[in-house]
Amino acid sequence: MKILIWNENEHEMSNALVRRLYPDGIHGALAAAFKDDGSASVSTATLAEPEHGLTEEKLRNTDVLIWWGHKAHGKVSDEIVARVQQRVWEGMGLIVLHSGHFSKIFRVLMGTPCSLSWREAGEVERLWVINRNHPIAAGLPPFIEIQHEEMYGEPFTIPEPMETVFVSWFEGGEVFRSGVTFQRGAGRIFYFRPGHEAYPTYHNLQILQIIRNAAHWAHNPLPAWRTVNDAPNVPHGQAPVPLQVKGPRLHEDGEAGYR
Ligand code: ZN
Repeated sequence: MKILIWNENEHEMSNALVRRLYPDGIHGALAAAFKDDGSASVSTATLAEPEHGLTEEKLRNTDVLIWWGHKAHGKVSDEIVARVQQRVWEGMGLIVLHSGHFSKIFRVLMGTPCSLSWREAGEVERLWVINRNHPIAAGLPPFIEIQHEEMYGEPFTIPEPMETVFVSWFEGGEVFRSGVTFQRGAGRIFYFRPGHEAYPTYHNLQILQIIRNAAHWAHNPLPAWRTVNDAPNVPHGQAPVPLQVKGPRLHEDGEAGYR
């Protein structure tokens, strides 16, 4: 399983607190989740690299993409967002973390605003496993407590998820659907809430275990879905049951059609 961890890597460059928490970048901390996982090979990419490190070739050789972004969502090029979306449709898994709820790729895949309420007050977050038999929750206790996290509160304007694996409660009283799954085309998508850059959340071994579980869940080894350019006309003589044309027609047998 080839995992690519993408991080905008801007807070680490501009803020001493974040750099102290994540000297190897958030992508470096996330990579540690897989260091004892013999079935995973991990690479990382950041916004500053050519094509944001998300070249056609790199994405073709990626089974699961993990995404952390926050202040630089607008700097991600639309062309590369479309490229990532195409790979998700084809079957690449996508794990979107924390402030990635407002990333272009997540919003375009969801088709909804993906907005929420929030507060940065170092609150306790109690992350409840509400779907204990789900592979993403494998090996976890009934809940995980994170001592300091940013609050994200409902309503979270996403489409109704395929599955809800985690719900968070925060010290200030709000709740949030913190771990939710979707499928787009052949691609499995997991959104996972924790991971504010001002706190050491990605050094928490239980959080890393969830991200590792999610990567295995999102890995789809089956053949890719058809692309938009693979939409063939089937002439009437080649139908599974060959038939005569009835009524008027605008298209020729075998023509490409419109896109
Ligand atoms: Zn945050």
